[in-house]
Amino acid sequence: MESPASATVSAGPAPGPTPTDLLSRLRSRGAGDPVTHVERVPARAGVPAPWPPWTPPELRDAFTRRGVTAPWRHQAEAANLAYDGGHVVVATGTASGKSMAYQLPALATLLADPRATALYLAPTKALAADQLRAVAALELEGVRPACYDGDTPRAEREWIRRHSRFVLTNPDMLHHGILPGHAQWSGFLRRLAYVVIDECHTYRGVFGSHVAHVLRRLRRQCARFGATPVFVLASATSGDPATAAGRLTGLPVAAVTEDASPRGGVTFALWEPPLLPPDSGSAPPVPPQPTGDHDDLHQVRRSALRETADLLADTVAEGVRTLAFVRSRKGAEVVAANARRALDDAVPGLGDRVAAYRGGYLREERRELERALLHGDLLGLASTNALELGVDLIGLDAVLICGYPGTRASLWQQAGRAGRSGQEALAVLVARDDPLDTYLVHHPEAIFGAPVEATVLDPANPYVLAPQLACAAVEAPLTPADLALFGDGAKEAIDELVAAGALRQRPTGWYWRHRERPEVDLRGEGGAPVCVVESATGRLLGTVDGGSSHFLLHPGAVYLHQGVSYVVDDLDLADGCALVHAEEPDWSTHARDVTDLSVVSVRSYVDAGPVGMFLGEVDVTSQVVSYQRRRIATGEVIDTRPLDLPTRELRTVAVWFTLSPQSLASAGVQPADVPGALHAAEHAAIGLLPLMATCDRWDIGGLSTAVHPDTEAPTVFVYDGHPGGAGFAERAYGTASAWLRATRDAIAECGCEAGCPSCVQSPKCGNGNNPLSKPDAVRVLDVVLANLPA
Ligand SMILES: [Zn+2]
Ligand SMILES: [Zn+2]
Repeated sequence: MESPASATVSAGPAPGPTPTDLLSRLRSRGAGDPVTHVERVPARAGVPAPWPPWTPPELRDAFTRRGVTAPWRHQAEAANLAYDGGHVVVATGTASGKSMAYQLPALATLLADPRATALYLAPTKALAADQLRAVAALELEGVRPACYDGDTPRAEREWIRRHSRFVLTNPDMLHHGILPGHAQWSGFLRRLAYVVIDECHTYRGVFGSHVAHVLRRLRRQCARFGATPVFVLASATSGDPATAAGRLTGLPVAAVTEDASPRGGVTFALWEPPLLPPDSGSAPPVPPQPTGDHDDLHQVRRSALRETADLLADTVAEGVRTLAFVRSRKGAEVVAANARRALDDAVPGLGDRVAAYRGGYLREERRELERALLHGDLLGLASTNALELGVDLIGLDAVLICGYPGTRASLWQQAGRAGRSGQEALAVLVARDDPLDTYLVHHPEAIFGAPVEATVLDPANPYVLAPQLACAAVEAPLTPADLALFGDGAKEAIDELVAAGALRQRPTGWYWRHRERPEVDLRGEGGAPVCVVESATGRLLGTVDGGSSHFLLHPGAVYLHQGVSYVVDDLDLADGCALVHAEEPDWSTHARDVTDLSVVSVRSYVDAGPVGMFLGEVDVTSQVVSYQRRRIATGEVIDTRPLDLPTRELRTVAVWFTLSPQSLASAGVQPADVPGALHAAEHAAIGLLPLMATCDRWDIGGLSTAVHPDTEAPTVFVYDGHPGGAGFAERAYGTASAWLRATRDAIAECGCEAGCPSCVQSPKCGNGNNPLSKPDAVRVLDVVLANLPA
């Protein structure tokens, strides 16, 4: 979300060192040079466009009063497409003014036709509230914008349904409230001219697949009332936004991707922390702090947190206003505390100019910290992510990013906080010990070149489609005409609902048979979430999705919650609840599981001589059977304890490749090393998949084996961790050679000797990262790549 008037910049303190000077001072303080690449992102002048000729004068005046004298070219282009009746997605950078692209056509239409209405969807209530403020500030006659969400008082709801012409809500409310109550909304839906979907790249995976069907249900209700609204979507920059928006809405969508808003120049450095001396790996200089990251693995590099803390201290000592992004809250506090200590050692009192920005703070406290940083009273701030920060916190002199934030969209959202027009700024990405981070700091083209990562969703997932069809049937009986709307698999899903007794077929369509509505959660995961409850106080600490609960909440598990350590006393699966007590033992716990996988069907395959590449359905059976306790300080294994947990089953989609034993032998992989080679390749491949699709490695599982009964060959499987699949394996199959090429390079380019968390070790391995063979993993992938068509 951005405000249209993003050209205003705050006045900061006097300019400090240039980014180039600053960077050369930072990189020269250690022994080797940690910088792997420097990219100069040039300043860009904005390209304004004339107001579209259809813009009503009062709308233009309203924008002018808000400081907008003309739209940028991308805003006008998207607005013109939408006003002409085309569905459009605008996918441009942070603070490029995407909101104006939909406000212009929607509000112009609302002013021209006093009956027309518009519906705005945001992924969060907070964003909808921000947009409400922006639209209300335009003070347009008769639009009466209003938020309609779970917080809206009952008394106001009817007024909004009857009188508001610009309703702001979220997909959950559309699913649970508006669509089931379509009769009460008929007046609004009948006149619906625009549907706006903001931050549409957040609708990915299983959640995105559900939202795709909620939008189809919305289109179906509109069609029943004779309305065919235009969809306008706003997205962060991503690969192929038109295709993703088309999958989300089920409509042909045109993309506007050329950002014409102005920006300051940024010097962007990629930074790889140095390897530790060989004998210091198991004896860190300070006690490690639990950060929720993989501090349990054997460290061979200096940690990204320590590196970021040092960089923050150095930039603050130079008088440079710096924002550091750290992935976990605890991590942000560690970075701020270490930077403060280093500064106080140098100049007592200087540490006071650095702070951590914590989620627990009140809104006013956070805004005060932001103000202090903007005015230079505070010089350094460590924060978890950009979403919590106020939109005005831009124009900083330096941004440090500790660990790749998962997507290029988030990376640019964070880096976009640096630089104001007319002044250069510095951004530094500090790699964590993770295969994807390692790959990126050695492949700057994957960051600065054309984006390849796409927003992935799979509306054909039967575990999503069937419950959504049930919801649709409650809203109005399904007819054969609806089959095309809901897409591939709709007929099969309806047949299954009929067979299960949920739908009844009559001459006029398929009818929902029950009195109650189906319970469908858009964010549905594998199994109901498990509540984590502190026994002594009864306080609910949080929830863990059902799929991870056996791993994270087994009896004896050390569970971290916002940096505080708890030990699990009991996991009650029937009640969906884990009882814990606060305790900080000096060990961490690591669950082991045994996983079995069988192939159900093959959807598609590539026969490449000694190599086969497959996409299909699989059944995954897994059981958490034991856990290890390891000393935090040294990683030493204390003991392994058995667990008694039930097996779990998952039918999902997988991508897998096979190799002939002969091809492995001729590549020099000894038979005894095949399991370690495949296992290492599997870990790294899972770590690199987020390069191709917006998922994280926790969405995906894997299995490798020297001979699999269904393939009768050495095989590596990578599967979606969600029932029915979420589109990740499918994307991996579609980009197999690029994905495995990146995997191969990440392993080969890691400077470690025998494998480390930056290449082939995985923090979520069920086998304790054993066996692993780094050099043989490269050989395996070389064989695959040599045979697979590009
Ligand atoms: Zn390594
Ligand atoms: Zn493993």
